[in-house]
Order: sequence, then C-alpha cells, then structure tokens
Amino acid sequence: MIQDPVQPRFRIKSGMTIVLQIVITIMTATPHWNFKDLILKEIKQNGGFVNAHAHIDRAFTITPDSLDIYRKHTLEEKWDLVDAVKDASEEVYYKRISQGLELMISQGVTAVGSFIDIDPIAEDRAAKAAVRAKNQYKSQIAVVLINQVLKGVIEPGARKWFDRAMEYVDIVGGLPKRDERDYGKGAEHIDILLSSAKKYGKMAHIHVDQFNTQKDKETELLADKTIEHGMQGRVVAVHSISLASHPQEYREKVYAKLKKAEVMVIGCPTAWIDAPRHEELQPFHNALTPVDELVKHGITVAIGSDNIADYMLPFTDGDMWNELKLMAIGNRFMNLDELVKIATVNGRKVLGLSS
Ligand SMILES: [Zn+2]
Repeated sequence: MIQDPVQPRFRIKSGMTIVLQIVITIMTATPHWNFKDLILKEIKQNGGFVNAHAHIDRAFTITPDSLDIYRKHTLEEKWDLVDAVKDASEEVYYKRISQGLELMISQGVTAVGSFIDIDPIAEDRAAKAAVRAKNQYKSQIAVVLINQVLKGVIEPGARKWFDRAMEYVDIVGGLPKRDERDYGKGAEHIDILLSSAKKYGKMAHIHVDQFNTQKDKETELLADKTIEHGMQGRVVAVHSISLASHPQEYREKVYAKLKKAEVMVIGCPTAWIDAPRHEELQPFHNALTPVDELVKHGITVAIGSDNIADYMLPFTDGDMWNELKLMAIGNRFMNLDELVKIATVNGRKVLGLSS
C-alpha cells in the first residue's frame, strides 16, 4: 500500500487543533457552581450536620398496609393511632433507633436530638432502648434525648410517665396542643414542662404552631411563658409554622418577644410542607418555619428531619441535605453562611451541646 506523504502531517495538525479547542472551551466555559458541594463542604468544616429534631423511636414503621392511616387521619387522630407501633419491645425499639442513628451517621450527621415516646403506652421501653443506643454510638454521634408526651401531661397516668421520663432524658419535651385539645389546658401544659425543666436544670423543646392557621398563637404563648418562668435562653420552639400564616404586624410582635425571651426555633421543612389545603385566607407563604424573617430578627434557627418513614410522615427519608434545600428554596433564603450555621453550630446550641 502506498503511503500518502501528506497524511501524517495532517494527523499531527488535527491532534493539536483538538487539544487547543479543548483548552479554549475550558477557559471560556461558564463556571458551574454546585451549591450542594459548596454547602456540604462548609458543613463538614463546621463539625458536620446536626439533626436537631427527630422521632427515631418510631422510624421505619410505615408499611404499604398502614399508609391509609396517613391518608385518612389528621395529626391529632394519629397521636393515638400510633399506639399500634408503640406496643413494641425494648429490643424492637433498639433496632429502630440504631437504624435511625446509622442513617444519620452515613450522611455525616455528628449530633442528633430525638424525641422518644415515654407515656402510658410506650412506658419506658423506648427510653431504655434509646439510652443503650446513645451509649453504643457515642463515639460516632452525640445523641440528645427528649421525652415526647403524646398523651399530654394533665391526665394523671400521662403525668406519671412524664415525671418518670426525667431520669432518662437530657431535655424536657412538650406538645401543648394535646392538652389544649383535650382539656383546654395548653398553657398549663407549658407551665408543667418549664417548671420541671427548671427543677432538673434541663432545657425544654416544645412543639408549637403546627397547623398553619391563624387560630394558633402558641409561639407567642411560649415566649411569654419562658419569661414568666425565667427560662430565657433555655427554651426551643419546634416548628412555629402557623406564625407564618399571621399578618406581618403580628409576626413582628412575636419575633420581638422571641428575641427578648431568647427562645430558639427548629424548623423541619418536609414535616409541614404537606399541610392540608384549607379555605382560611392568609398572607401568602409556604407551610414552613419562616426562617428568613427569624434570622433577620436575630433568632437562632436550627434544622431537623422530624419523623422518618412513619405514620406521621411516610415519605420522609431523613436526608438532611434535602431538608436544608427545602428550607432554603421554600423561604427564598439563600444566605449560604446562615444556612451552614443552621445545619451545624446552631443545632449544637439548641441541643445544649454548646453555648
Ligand atoms: Zn416532632
């Protein structure tokens, strides 16, 4: 075969041209910012993610058969319907909690605050399992335990288990709506929690303003009660969704009260983005903790996953990046430094792991 003398030179020229074209393309390409990589890197440098609010003792309890419970019932009805998964042995609780902690560790979460059911149904089986798991995993993740009071603290049987819970938990937990609904005693519920927290030298984390309605004014009540009990800097509001449904003038009043009472707030974005459609007219907002406004008013905000794959939130999977992303997008809140603080140092502060 006769070789074409021009061919080799052409090949060399073509190869150089290709290389040159690649260099030019790289140099002139629009820079691609990957905010996820950027924020996750900062989170790692700030000590890792903190999941400040979860219920890992009930994690992974939803099944296709029980999905109807989510579809057909309100949250208030589910406070009792979840009894079905609370009748578990300490061993079953231990497995659920361990699985939840491993899910957290796998994504670089270094501290978690979890409510644990301690009440006439769960008694102290979940608490005992949680204390075991806390010790088992302590070299990998700091676990802060908080008692959940699904049956309230007014009914004597429920109150007995609330008092017993104090020996197991690091932080006092509350749900005033339970006693408000049953007895009209939401304020008394908060009084009992804060009195106990003060007595035992613990912080308090309290579910408030969950229903995305102007009828809810629990965040304001919590700020007032915090000052009344002299618990400034020791109380954390979990959710405060309904705050966003009030007019601006009321919101501003509550932000000032939160600041004065040094109440901190934990937002759990996926937890209430499924707020049911209703006909109440409200200022337009997404069903999320109003993080943009809270941060602007100097209030410490942290983030939690809340329930993971259970009757309350079947599709939630405990992915902390997804939670942070929804918090940012749903509030149009793109302050990167503050988002990193929310995911890290603020979480440690609300859990009492740092001052
Ligand atoms: Zn919760």
